[in-house]
Amino acid sequence: MQTFSIAIHGGAGTLVKGMMTQDLETAYKNALKLALDQGYKVLDQGGSALDAVEASVKELENSHLFNAGKGSVFSANETHEMDASIMDGKNLKAGAISLISGIKNPVSLARDVMEKSEHVFLAGEGAMQFAKELGYKFEEASYFYDDLRHQQWLDIKDSNHFQLDHSAKKDSKFGTVGAVACDKDGNIAAATSTGGMTNKKWGRVGDSPMIGAGNYANNKTCAISCTGSGEYFIRGVVAYDVACLIEHKNMSLAEASSEVIHKRILELGGDGGLIAIDSQGNIAMPFNTEGMYRAKKSSNGMEEISIYS
Ligand code: ASP
Repeated sequence: MQTFSIAIHGGAGTLVKGMMTQDLETAYKNALKLALDQGYKVLDQGGSALDAVEASVKELENSHLFNAGKGSVFSANETHEMDASIMDGKNLKAGAISLISGIKNPVSLARDVMEKSEHVFLAGEGAMQFAKELGYKFEEASYFYDDLRHQQWLDIKDSNHFQLDHSAKKDSKFGTVGAVACDKDGNIAAATSTGGMTNKKWGRVGDSPMIGAGNYANNKTCAISCTGSGEYFIRGVVAYDVACLIEHKNMSLAEASSEVIHKRILELGGDGGLIAIDSQGNIAMPFNTEGMYRAKKSSNGMEEISIYS
């Protein structure tokens, strides 16, 4: 019988161990569990991998604990500019948006770009105009506001630096979010959503909405959602690189994911992690940071929620 399964992440790099309190750890794990269950429920009821990854990512976007939707980091001009993407491994259809604000669930807008426009990628004003035409409600900036995110921005706003919400230097909290799933029909999908990096320049786009860099899905190989230093993940074409190693070098999902995260991206100077799934429901979740908020669940009874390695 086909195994169905799902994996999610809430960012690679976590609060450094000393900063993590028992209460916070419980809060993160509860939020991960909630998001995991949303996606798993879809799969269990016979729904598609695409519906499952959207459901999980929406739940993570709705939590202020993660750097996506509510709780997104601040860009250099003290606004939120969010990016998201989604891809269906069954037919290689994809949708992405970047540089948007006011939208509660960017992942759903990415899906609408995929299904309701003739394009793959819409950015900025055009993406928001598209959302308006579809009747999206726009939230006030206060909906996305989070004290800690704002403090992270205040700390570096006068510098020319931008940083991951999970920079090792900082007592930061993190994370871009993502999900990958394999459904009862053996179809796979991936979705990724982020507020990007603190103090990023106006107009900066990271890897998360870029098909092939931060997000990718193809039934033939794997579905991938990345998190980490986006500039490096773009240059490493990380998500597609994992798929290529499987397709052309016959590597297993675990080998290919590990080669990219523990070798190739490090050689480039980047850090982060990814979650990966294949059409047999196998899962890999490598990261080269101190931790990665992550969870996985499979119809064979496996369930795991973890933060550190
Ligand atoms: N990859 C994201 C970006 O560069 C950041 C993250 O993973 O937290 O926008």
